[in-house]
Amino acid sequence: MILPCNANLTEERPTFVTHLECGGTGDRVDPDRLHGLSAAGKPLLVRYDLDGVARALSKERLARRPADMWRYREFLPVRHAASIVSLGETMTPLIPASRLAARHGAGALWVKDEGRLPTGSFKARGLAVAVSMARELGVTRMAMPTAGNAGAALAAYCTRAGIESFVFCPDDTPEVNVRETALQGARIWRVNGLINDCGRIVGEGKEAMGWFDASTLKEPYRIEGKKTMGLELAEQMGWRLPDVIFYPTGGGTGLIGMWKVFAELRAIGWLEGEMPRMVAVQAEGCAPIVRAYETGADHAEPWEGAHTIAPGIRVPAAIGDFLILKAVRESSGFAIAVTDAAIEEAQREMAGAEGLLMGPEGAATHAAFIKARKEGRIGAGDRVVLFNCGTGLKYPMPSVSGAIDRHKPVDYAAMNSG
Ligand SMILES: *Cc1c(COP(=O)(O)O)cnc(C)c1O
Repeated sequence: MILPCNANLTEERPTFVTHLECGGTGDRVDPDRLHGLSAAGKPLLVRYDLDGVARALSKERLARRPADMWRYREFLPVRHAASIVSLGETMTPLIPASRLAARHGAGALWVKDEGRLPTGSFKARGLAVAVSMARELGVTRMAMPTAGNAGAALAAYCTRAGIESFVFCPDDTPEVNVRETALQGARIWRVNGLINDCGRIVGEGKEAMGWFDASTLKEPYRIEGKKTMGLELAEQMGWRLPDVIFYPTGGGTGLIGMWKVFAELRAIGWLEGEMPRMVAVQAEGCAPIVRAYETGADHAEPWEGAHTIAPGIRVPAAIGDFLILKAVRESSGFAIAVTDAAIEEAQREMAGAEGLLMGPEGAATHAAFIKARKEGRIGAGDRVVLFNCGTGLKYPMPSVSGAIDRHKPVDYAAMNSG
């Protein structure tokens, strides 16, 4: 039976949210009001009645639902089906990279390809939930700093929800991101600085502009949307998670969200086997989390002069730094940095050997896998998942010189070389 793709969106189901909790102090707040950061200035995390979730939902019932992220409604905060803003958040494929598993010596290697989502990145997951919640709580205007993909997703979902959106990005953000964001209805400005400079403009403009700050982890719901990556991964792998997950870490929402939902799944007894080791991947030109991990710090110092070809992980200071470091350490994972040259090489290798075009952030995870494997930080039998968080099509690619003059004889023999 083929279910209509909007079937998950119309069925009214209760929410199992009990409260929100400060990620720093554990203090509780009421879930049915609009919240930014906690009173202590830390991210707020959504907590659920997990026994209620387990009673309401079984793996078998879940398996019969349409293949989009709203199949996990019981694990999400949206109270009313009518609040949901959707552009078709399809489940993304887990693609085996068997040649490269053999080449580098891993038990198995997969790429979770998030480039298939609306607006071409997994930012759609977070913003589908955040904008749905904003609509439910009466927000009419939202703003955020972006490295590119988040702004595009904010624009698309806000426009669909009838919410105004304002986006601020570094002035070297990929042109396609700036234009798609504007075309999808946001007002966007290029700022001659980095993403934290853009974030300051959003924060300081709150009073004058009356907008809701949708920055990474400065509101509680983007992380809930992103955690559906972890739900999907668990379900796709038959509820037995891989040994190692390599995640391109900027603000860290995806890594924190997956670690959060793995704990939720474990609490209701749905997971078999061990928990995965979470590996935070950064670029050598911007590696605050790696530095903090290596020095044993709980928080990361801001990175000066951040630069990398992977804009999604060019985040010099992350408000959820302590949560990233906690997830990495609790899981016995690690944080690792790779060079831009290694990112380009890894992108070429994945595209050339597996036919899979990764963005630079995704390619960074492949570069990190190769490096960690060489250094013996992961084993020959490990089952490894790499996250490609956005489509490779939005980024510059190496140029091509082949051309044929149709007025001259075609030199077929020359096609055999190179
Ligand atoms: C935003 C982004 C990241 C970083 O994600 P976080 O969860 O914020 O750390 C990685 N890759 C791409 C393509 C992105 O757009």
